[in-house]
Amino acid sequence: MKKHHFGAGAVLALDVGGTKIAGAVLDSHRQIIATGQVPTPASAGAPAVLDAMARLVAQLRGKTTEEILGLGLGAAGVIDPANARVSSATDTIAGWAGTDLRTELMHRTGLPVRAVNDVHAHGLGEAHAGAGRDAEQVLLFAVGTGIGGAHLLNGQLHSGAHHVAGHMGHVDSPLAAGLPCSCGRTGHVEAIAAGPAIHRNYLRLGGDQRVADTRELAARAVQGDELARTALRTGARAAGMALASLANVLDPDLIIVSGGMAGAGDIWWHALRAGYADSIIDLLAHTPIVPAQLGNDAAFYGAASLFWSTNERN
Ligand SMILES: [Zn+2]
Repeated sequence: MKKHHFGAGAVLALDVGGTKIAGAVLDSHRQIIATGQVPTPASAGAPAVLDAMARLVAQLRGKTTEEILGLGLGAAGVIDPANARVSSATDTIAGWAGTDLRTELMHRTGLPVRAVNDVHAHGLGEAHAGAGRDAEQVLLFAVGTGIGGAHLLNGQLHSGAHHVAGHMGHVDSPLAAGLPCSCGRTGHVEAIAAGPAIHRNYLRLGGDQRVADTRELAARAVQGDELARTALRTGARAAGMALASLANVLDPDLIIVSGGMAGAGDIWWHALRAGYADSIIDLLAHTPIVPAQLGNDAAFYGAASLFWSTNERN
């Protein structure tokens, strides 16, 4: 594929999570040319995390001689893209809610700052540079330790009136009836289909207590452990049905599935597609469902894309 020169400059991108801050330099060809990573000093509080981010930025900006257009962030919590403020967050990072990322990081780095939520950054990345780069309307569905996603129209994120759009784990699922969800309610798809929920379901069904996590469970399923197969299939089926419910509402031209469970293998994918097929309306039965292409790098592309003009897409 021909490499385009987009004629602008480099962008620094950070993916800020509760355990680590990963960073990358994307050059004017929109390629990752350097990466770095530091632990998140989550319990030390927001100012310490901002300082750690600034140190990583200092490290990364030495990796390019191009002009740096700005600092793009994909960050944990609900992020208001209009002002790069953390409008709400869990206590994973102490005092994170209310943090003004734009002002604090401009002060520390001198760079213009733009930010979105980390899952939204993944969606933007796949839409701009990954599996969705030729699609107009993309629905990204991420199934990992939780379930979330993003809806993109012509490369633009639909983040909602409260920047909360994409909480796809909190769609009702008949297969999760009565099961407690991370949000405090019951019956949401995350309670049966997220990675840890699949493991819990396996143990509830009477599975082998020595199976420590979902990764091991998926391996057991391949080896023929019937309860592991049931738990994996039930979770994937529930995810597929929920995905169909979303597609029935949004009618994307492409569905991208990402997250840890997307790497769980054929048993999971087959059940996901079967669940989707059972719940999707006939008009949308043939919407393509594809795996994500960029892995964790998606967040870098998405954060950097905040400085790419959308009319230069592709
Ligand atoms: Zn929920």
